[in-house]
Amino acid sequence: MADVVVIGAGISGAATAYQLARDGLGVTLVDCFGPAAMASGWTLAGVRQSGRHPAELPLARAAVAMWSTLAEELGAPTHYRRSGNLRVARDAQEMEIVRGVVREQAAAGLDITLLPDNQAVRAVAPALSEKVLLASYCTSDGSADPLATVTAFVAAAERLGAITRFGERVLRVEHANGRVTGVVTDKGTIAAGRVVIAAGIFGNALLAPFGIAIPLDIPMVTVLRSAPAERVVEQVISTATANCTGRQQHDGRWRVTNGAEPWHGVLNETDEGGRKRPHVRPTAAMVADVVNRYGALVPAFRDAQIEESWAGLLDLTPDALPVLDHVPGCEGVVLAIGFSGHGFCLGPVTGRILADLAQGKPSPFPLDPFQIGRFQNLRPGREAATLHG
Ligand SMILES: Cc1cc2nc3c(=O)[nH]c(=O)nc-3n(C[C@H](O)[C@H](O)[C@H](O)COP(=O)(O)OP(=O)(O)OC[C@H]3O[C@@H](n4cnc5c(N)ncnc54)[C@H](O)[C@@H]3O)c2cc1C
Repeated sequence: MADVVVIGAGISGAATAYQLARDGLGVTLVDCFGPAAMASGWTLAGVRQSGRHPAELPLARAAVAMWSTLAEELGAPTHYRRSGNLRVARDAQEMEIVRGVVREQAAAGLDITLLPDNQAVRAVAPALSEKVLLASYCTSDGSADPLATVTAFVAAAERLGAITRFGERVLRVEHANGRVTGVVTDKGTIAAGRVVIAAGIFGNALLAPFGIAIPLDIPMVTVLRSAPAERVVEQVISTATANCTGRQQHDGRWRVTNGAEPWHGVLNETDEGGRKRPHVRPTAAMVADVVNRYGALVPAFRDAQIEESWAGLLDLTPDALPVLDHVPGCEGVVLAIGFSGHGFCLGPVTGRILADLAQGKPSPFPLDPFQIGRFQNLRPGREAATLHG
C-alpha cells in the first residue's frame, strides 16, 4: 500500500514524487514508458517567465528561483543555464506583439527590456540575422536539459524511499464510497489513499470513469537536434508568434523547433533495451519549416549537422493554461494536465503544488485560474494561443 500513487514520470509527476517523498510520504511513481518519455523528453526545455499569461507568471517566477539551486538540491546536473531569452520580430505585426509583451511584463515587474533595433539585438546576440527588426530580452530566462532534470528528480525521490514502476500502464483509478482506493495497472493493483494524475496527453483516459473530459487539442511540434557545434548563441531565440524557437544546449548541440501544427495522429512505439518508447515522426515539410525559419533568424544554424529529428505532442487547453486541481466527486485524486507547451519550466513548482494538494494543504500560489471547472463556457480551441521556448 502506498500513501500516494503518482501516475506519469514526466517532469510534473517526477517533481511531485520527489516533493511527496521529501515530505515523508510513501510514494509509488508509475510510468507506462519511463522518465521523460513523452512531452518532458520531446521538449525544447526553455525555462522562461517572459511571454507568460499573467496567471502563470507567479508560478514561472517561483520556478525560476527554484531552478537556480535545483541541481544542488537533487544532487545531479540539470544543465540549467540562465542565459536569457530573446523574442524577435520579423515584420510590423510581430513588432507590435513584442512591444506589447515588454510593456505588460515590465509593468508586472519582470526584468524584460526592449532591444529597439537590429543593432541593439545583435549587440546582445551577434549571430542573429540582419533581418531581425527588434526583440524583447529577459536576462533571467534560460533553459535546462530535460532528460537530466527528470532523471535527477526520479533518482532523488528514490533515495528518499519512493518506489518506481516503469513499463507499467495504469488502466484505471479505483474508488469506493467517493474516495480513491488505488490504481489497477496492466501488472496488478496498487492500493493507495491518494492518487496524482500527471499523465500528459493520456490524462483524459484516466478521467473518463469520473465523467470528466478536459477539452484538449493535441497538436505536434517538430524538433531538430544537431551534433555539437561551436557556440554562437547563448540565449533561447524565439519569434513573436512562436512559429520557431531554438537554442544551443550546454554541449553545443542545437535544439530547434517550429510552431504547433495539426498532428497526423500516428504515435509509434519502439523497443529500446527492453523498454518501449513512444515516437511521433515529423513530416519532411515540417522539418523543412524548422530549417527555413530558424535558419533565417540564425544563419549559422544552416551548417548544423542534424543528428536526430522528432515531433512532440502538446496538451493544449482552450485558454492555454493547465489544470492543477482536485478531481471532483472522488476524494484523494489530484490532477495536472494541459500545460499547453510551457510546463517544463513550471515543473519544480508544479511538483510542490501537487504535493500540497495531495496532502490537503493550502497552496501558497493563486490556483483559481487553474481550476478544473473553468471550461464549461468555453469551446475547445476557441481561445487557444500558446508559446513554447
Ligand atoms: C516540442 C515541445 C517543446 C516544448 N518547449 C517547452 C519549453 O521550451 N518550455 C516549457 O516550459 N515547456 C515546453 N514544452 C512543454 C513541456 O515540455 C510540457 O508541458 C511538460 O514536459 C509536461 O510534463 P508532464 O509531466 O505534465 O507530461 P509528460 O512529460 O507528457 O509526462 C506524462 C507521463 O505520463 C505517462 N503516462 C501517461 N499515461 C499513463 C498511464 N496510463 N500509466 C502510466 N503512465 C502514463 C507517460 O508515459 C509520460 O511519461 C514543450 C513541449 C514540446 C512537445
